[in-house]
Amino acid sequence: MATGFFKTDKVTNEPILSYAPGTPERAEVLEAYKHLWNSEMEVPLYIGGNEIFTGKTKLITPPHDHKHVVGSFQKASKEHVQQAIDAALAARDEWAAMPWQDRVSIFLKAADLLSGPYRARMNAATMIGQSKTVFQAEIDAVAELADFWRFNAQYLQRIYSEQPASSKEVWNRMEYRALEGFIYAVTPFNFTSIAGNLPTSPAMAGNVVVWKPSSTSMYSAKLIMEILMEAGLPDGVINMVSGSASMITEVILESPHFSGIHFTGSTDVFQYLWKKVGENIAKYRSYPRIVGETGGKDFVWMYKDADPIVVATALTRGAFEYQGQKCSAASRAYIPKSRWDAVFETLKKQVESIKMGAPDDMSNFETAVISEGAFNKITGYIDDAKKDTDAEVIIGGNYDKSVGYFIEPTVILAKNPHYITMEEELFGPVLTIYVYDDADWKESLTILDGTSPYALTGAIFAKDRYVIDYASKKLENAAGNFYINDKPTGAVVNQQPFGGARGSGTNDKAGSMWNLIRWMSVRSIKENFNPPIDYRYPFMDKE
Ligand code: NAD
Repeated sequence: MATGFFKTDKVTNEPILSYAPGTPERAEVLEAYKHLWNSEMEVPLYIGGNEIFTGKTKLITPPHDHKHVVGSFQKASKEHVQQAIDAALAARDEWAAMPWQDRVSIFLKAADLLSGPYRARMNAATMIGQSKTVFQAEIDAVAELADFWRFNAQYLQRIYSEQPASSKEVWNRMEYRALEGFIYAVTPFNFTSIAGNLPTSPAMAGNVVVWKPSSTSMYSAKLIMEILMEAGLPDGVINMVSGSASMITEVILESPHFSGIHFTGSTDVFQYLWKKVGENIAKYRSYPRIVGETGGKDFVWMYKDADPIVVATALTRGAFEYQGQKCSAASRAYIPKSRWDAVFETLKKQVESIKMGAPDDMSNFETAVISEGAFNKITGYIDDAKKDTDAEVIIGGNYDKSVGYFIEPTVILAKNPHYITMEEELFGPVLTIYVYDDADWKESLTILDGTSPYALTGAIFAKDRYVIDYASKKLENAAGNFYINDKPTGAVVNQQPFGGARGSGTNDKAGSMWNLIRWMSVRSIKENFNPPIDYRYPFMDKE
């Protein structure tokens, strides 16, 4: 067979379009939005390349207008889940044996389809299904997902080219195999890019996958499957099933061929999955890889020499973009007393100017939260804060779910640094602030570090380099993504590899070499050109 050493062209991050008035992209996305809004999309299961309609369905309704139906998705039975496992296993050997350049070319083409002909439709689907503004959709569903697919192709080459030392007459090699069996990818609602990355990064490394998307992001999940199929993904490599999460999980984790889980979502669900894997460990042919990125309680800490306007702006963007539903969203802040009035003045002005509504009105900065369950949970915390003596709602605090699940951007002032909204993940547009005495700045860092079980993202704002150095060391374990003088959100593939530690996950850094390596098993090969012909060693010779 003819061959060569192939390498993909050097890639750069997908440019983000502005969607400013008068631009062609704005007109295109609004057109796509209108079209999707007025049609109904049926989302099938995808098993072995077939679209399966089970007859049991659930309606898809946009969070910002929950009475409007834009389609439905199918609910799988146990048998469907087993069929998805079987289809994955049937595809496994051929896919794993496919030369890597053929595998990655599918995903490179998918990235081009996504950033080209599918761009407007994918953005519109994410705007409608997950209630993102056009900018939030663009940076996620198009730019980040295209980046994941393109950069992972490069990381794969770097891994494959990592080879051991050889010596005279011995050639050592490392082969990077796909795992035996199949991977279970479970994805959250809040990033279309994560939904696209979690099943595809193991697949790029030669694995086959059963993917369970979130029931609140089925609209964009269908487009991901369409793009992958159009790009040439062979049947059975990624099988998408939807329906009861616990039933699907039960069936998957019973299979002896289960070889890994690629999860992003809440900490509780991840811990449940890990426990289940542990209970079933003796059933599996291999020790499964467990990769999970989970919740956060992301912080902003300010020193007295930082600019209050910069800090207030970081808080407004960091806490309220996408309604605070980013795992990296700033949700607790520590502000020195001497700067509090100045920070509050700008913060109040900015937050109270935020417009909220449907995403096709492009003057809106915020839209609705994802579901009624999320709405009820978040507003419950706000109601408690209105009553509690050690907290005060100082900005926002109103909400209304009559049309969509709208919650005003809300700021709580906590008198106690361990007040519940300083500690627990709310996953909504709520920021809690604790004001500390300037002289206690070191103590405030100790409190910050010990306050929540999470360690996902965090930001410090200061000018004094000794303070920056001190805080960076003190908070070494408090965040997997640490920002100095910038908001804690907006990580970019290939620039800030993303992931957290402690209760926030296994920190395997999605969209990086360190993530891809989890989906491979190395075979070390030693080839001897001159094997010995006598078992004895020279030290055994006679004097
Ligand atoms: P979620 O935990 O409710 O759902 C995540 C996925 O798990 C969904 O597909 C859901 O259906 C599934 N699931 C739920 N119960 C399950 C079960 N018993 N078995 C198997 N799967 C089950 O999370 P969400 O609301 O979709 O997303 C928000 C959460 O995700 C937040 O906690 C956020 O911090 C986290 N998140 C983390 C990162 C990160 O990189 N660390 C990124 C995005 C989101």
